[in-house]
Amino acid sequence: MPLDQLSQTTSLFAPLKEQPLDVMLTLLNALRGDPRDGKIDLGIGVYRNDDNQTPVMRAVKAAETHLVATQASKDYISPEGDMGYIDRLAPIVFGEAGARDDRRLGMQTPGGTAALRLAAALIARGNPEARVWISRETWPNHALLMHAAHLQVIDHPYFDRATQAVQFDVMMSALEAARPGDVWLLQACCHNPTGADLSPEQWRAVTAFVARKGLIPLIDMAYQGLGYGLDDDAAGMRMVIDAASEAFVAVSGSKNFGLYRDRVGALWLQADNAAVARRARSNLIVLARSLWSMPPDHGAAVVRTILGDAALTTMWRAELDDMRLRIQTLRRDLAAVLPQLAPVARQNGMFSLLPIDRDRVIRLRADHAIYMLESGRINIAGLHSANLPTLCTALRPYL
Ligand code: PMP
Repeated sequence: MPLDQLSQTTSLFAPLKEQPLDVMLTLLNALRGDPRDGKIDLGIGVYRNDDNQTPVMRAVKAAETHLVATQASKDYISPEGDMGYIDRLAPIVFGEAGARDDRRLGMQTPGGTAALRLAAALIARGNPEARVWISRETWPNHALLMHAAHLQVIDHPYFDRATQAVQFDVMMSALEAARPGDVWLLQACCHNPTGADLSPEQWRAVTAFVARKGLIPLIDMAYQGLGYGLDDDAAGMRMVIDAASEAFVAVSGSKNFGLYRDRVGALWLQADNAAVARRARSNLIVLARSLWSMPPDHGAAVVRTILGDAALTTMWRAELDDMRLRIQTLRRDLAAVLPQLAPVARQNGMFSLLPIDRDRVIRLRADHAIYMLESGRINIAGLHSANLPTLCTALRPYL
């Protein structure tokens, strides 16, 4: 075969298909390229204050100042990351008593995304036949991350657009088809993209169900503190894992510490007993080495510094409370102006899925420079006193 042909047939890159641009990036580009005044960005999933800014939290700034002044080395830490960070975060995640359970072992990961990816890798190693159940509307990365580990994903009904609430009974009957050893990926609070969370009674039913069916809960907690508060947001998760023999909890510090770009996360696993937990965690460490070797240090060091200092912890909790209260107020304001959106006031966290179709989403963009995901997901925190009336006026004819 002539050399030029040979190089064609063995090309690694030529057969690759062009991939669509990330939906969020496409939206961001459209928004940036829109010359109109008064554009409303309800797309990107970051917290914003009433000035439409995503500022660095004051507690974070103070911890960073301290770190810059005192950090003596940038030497490697280890694949499991900063264990001081893990030890101080555990009581926030599990409560004081839950954090002392020696069947639960955690490690630092580059964001909640990597925590989920690492959990997927361990599931695939332990039981490649396990199917992962995810809610039909969910963060699109969930399926992507599970597929990356070659796991089978099954989606189940979750949200009823008409009532804008969880279709609990429909969801539970779908889950009857789950097999022992299957994994159920649940969002702990502030469900992305619907904002519709399980009630305490529903969490109790899920807890009994998971125990009866022998399912492994994989709980994704990316918004702790932004729904009802740190402990209330974790209550359902804590109940479910207390009753499960094996479980994972994936945590993100992106939203509640505002450390998005610093990639702060953690993964805990829970096993039947401490010895199995240690063995399982030794596998997590090997898998992490093959995925990212070691997590970035800075953001986790910031969290460790905040949680190791009573004054900084108080400051951080107060800032987080302010964020949560602002979101709750916006939800109530929106529902007060548009009674058709009354359920939005009962939903939690940054996101809600508006009961409008894709055509209307596109029209809102074209006619009013209002940007949201094509699914109708809005970031409530993108609203503020100045743009809320504009959104309501534009939205009213579509509801
Ligand atoms: N889970 C959910 C549901 C999310 O919405 C996000 C962030 N968008 C994450 C996990 C992970 O976030 P990060 O990797 O920034 O910690």
